[in-house]
Amino acid sequence: MSDFSKGAAYINGKIVPINEAKISLLDWGFLHSDATYDVVHVWDGRFFRLTNHLNRFYASMDKLRMSIPHTPPQLQTILTDCVKASGLREAYVEMITTRGFPQAGSRDPRTCTNQFYAFAIPFVWVTPPQQGLHLIISRQQRIPAESVNPVIKNYHWLDLVMGQFEAYDQGGETAAVVDAQGNIKEGPGFNIFAVKEGVLTTPASGVLEGITRQTAIELATAQGYQVLQKELTPEAARAADEVFITSTAGGIMPIFKIDQQLIGGNKKGTIGAVTQKLQDAYWQLHSDPHYTTNINY
Ligand code: PLP
Repeated sequence: MSDFSKGAAYINGKIVPINEAKISLLDWGFLHSDATYDVVHVWDGRFFRLTNHLNRFYASMDKLRMSIPHTPPQLQTILTDCVKASGLREAYVEMITTRGFPQAGSRDPRTCTNQFYAFAIPFVWVTPPQQGLHLIISRQQRIPAESVNPVIKNYHWLDLVMGQFEAYDQGGETAAVVDAQGNIKEGPGFNIFAVKEGVLTTPASGVLEGITRQTAIELATAQGYQVLQKELTPEAARAADEVFITSTAGGIMPIFKIDQQLIGGNKKGTIGAVTQKLQDAYWQLHSDPHYTTNINY
């Protein structure tokens, strides 16, 4: 009997236990980080904003001149099959397209056969919902959008990972990377918001247009808050009443400390009022049929 308890993957046209899913060393996704991906989550047996994730994934492939033989409905079936095989009702579901393999002896990307992979594993949290993180604003610069466009979800993570090491060295738990002017951009797998006197600010550009970021903007606007998409300086973030991060891996999650200092509204160990309201509203959407796709296990 195959063991799907740790998750399921789709590879070479088959669903297999996650531990049996292996890619070739020669796939340019591995050799060159030449890949795009997306992550959607499943909560209580339902995909959250699946159409948004699929649209972003196909748009990323287009921009990278990649294609797969699967239509969006076929892709939805593959993802659903991964989740069903795993039996998980709370899952982290990733879809990946790599440049794949060139014709023998060629280094011409036009000769490559793109590869598609997917997997479902147990839900992943950047941090549990009430457990605010200590964020370090690292000196690490996000790779410029002119070089690798962060709107295309990609595996160029060295800037983010080196930022994380810098944060750990300073006693922090995660990092924000900056642009050449020192403005805050994003972190390893999340977007960043600051709240000051009821006004939310999140960087407008140079970041992945996160689906959770979009959800937070929609929820905040519906709740009557002003949301500014503009540069967020380290000074503004440190002086904020609340700071939170957004990711498919955990939703809307609080930051309690920046660069060793507790943030204004965040009394030690408590989540700020605006962050809490948005977090509650975010999880409520997870039973709303307009935002979710039911899985028949
Ligand atoms: N920024 C980066 C660099 C990411 O990798 C991610 C997600 O993995 C995000 C932001 C958050 O995006 P989403 O809310 O769509 O998960």
